[in-house]
Amino acid sequence: MAKRDYYEVLGVNKNATPEELKKAYRKLAIKYHPDRNPGDKEAEEKFKEAAEAYDVLSDQNKRSRYDQFGHAAFDGAAGQGGGFYGAGGMNMDDIFSHFGDIFEGFGFGGGFSSRRSGAAANRGSDLRVRVKLTLKECATGVEKKLKVRKQVSCPHCNGSGAKDANSVKTCSQCNGIGYVTQVVNSLFGRMQSQSPCPSCAGRGKTITDKCPKCGGTGTVSDEDVVSVKIPAGVEDGMQLKVRGGGNAAPNGGTPGDLLVVIQVEEDSVLSRDGSNLIYHLLLSVPEAILGTEVEIPTAENKVKINIEAGTQPGKVLRLKGKGLPELNSSIRGDLLIRVDVYIPKKLSADDQKTIEKLKDNPSFKPSPTEKASFFEKVKQMFS
Ligand SMILES: [Zn+2]
Ligand SMILES: [Zn+2]
Repeated sequence: MAKRDYYEVLGVNKNATPEELKKAYRKLAIKYHPDRNPGDKEAEEKFKEAAEAYDVLSDQNKRSRYDQFGHAAFDGAAGQGGGFYGAGGMNMDDIFSHFGDIFEGFGFGGGFSSRRSGAAANRGSDLRVRVKLTLKECATGVEKKLKVRKQVSCPHCNGSGAKDANSVKTCSQCNGIGYVTQVVNSLFGRMQSQSPCPSCAGRGKTITDKCPKCGGTGTVSDEDVVSVKIPAGVEDGMQLKVRGGGNAAPNGGTPGDLLVVIQVEEDSVLSRDGSNLIYHLLLSVPEAILGTEVEIPTAENKVKINIEAGTQPGKVLRLKGKGLPELNSSIRGDLLIRVDVYIPKKLSADDQKTIEKLKDNPSFKPSPTEKASFFEKVKQMFS
């Protein structure tokens, strides 16, 4: 398969600033993150492709080599660094060790949650819940109390799994140390090796009578209320992690994490593009011609703006800083107002006459220069 152009992969132009690159990469990395697309090979490829493109373009030195030689700059023919971007591209561990910071605040952490959950034997499993947010909540941040059904530490035995204190005995096989030492004869001579005690699974204690409430596991299913602080600027599909908010581990191990997946409800009037908001403003013909004052909704509030006389349909007004805050940043996006003009379809007989009077009025006809500039604009739109 031919390699795609790095700029094309990130969807930026050749003059993109480091900020633009980072933004573009972050968007793709979140979209194709393996935590969001478990088992999806295509998403994984896209994730890797974006990481590779960002790795090159975010490095001034690599970027100028790429601009000069294209992909050939890294395939070994041009000398340096060959292999890293070879047939298989970057591997996932490379990506997380290189760009872990890009996911900060998204709760993705530095690896896959599926891998993490396998890491420790006596660790509770992770739980995943969805939380629905309005656009306003995304703008301001919010604290949510989530009801979660999960395994909690058994209140009857305090998670020990034992009926009472007398039912807990020091393990006789390891004498309470939790591991056993074996002497093995090997090529290198006699070697000592230690492994978790098989009788007590490394806990150093055995239980003679099990807790009747939890059957000795130390956990019971219960409904818990977990409070989650959601920062301003989160986006649909992001995931926050509440450490230790997941299922309790059997016999007093480390609890798993609670993964909170953000779901942003569609707003009835504002649409969102990253931290920018988009509003479609529909003016009447007289309003567009004469100018007017209108009220524009923002995520949290409203603002009043003046529409200049002679405002053209298709014009985009930009209200700086009236968009959404960026996550973990004091920067706010903009509110883009796209102006359209409402053309009535039905008129009363009187109105019909009024409009007909305007038909041949020269003020209502574009001059040749205005026609030419309009034609230029349309050409650009379709080029
Ligand atoms: Zn033992
Ligand atoms: Zn119990």
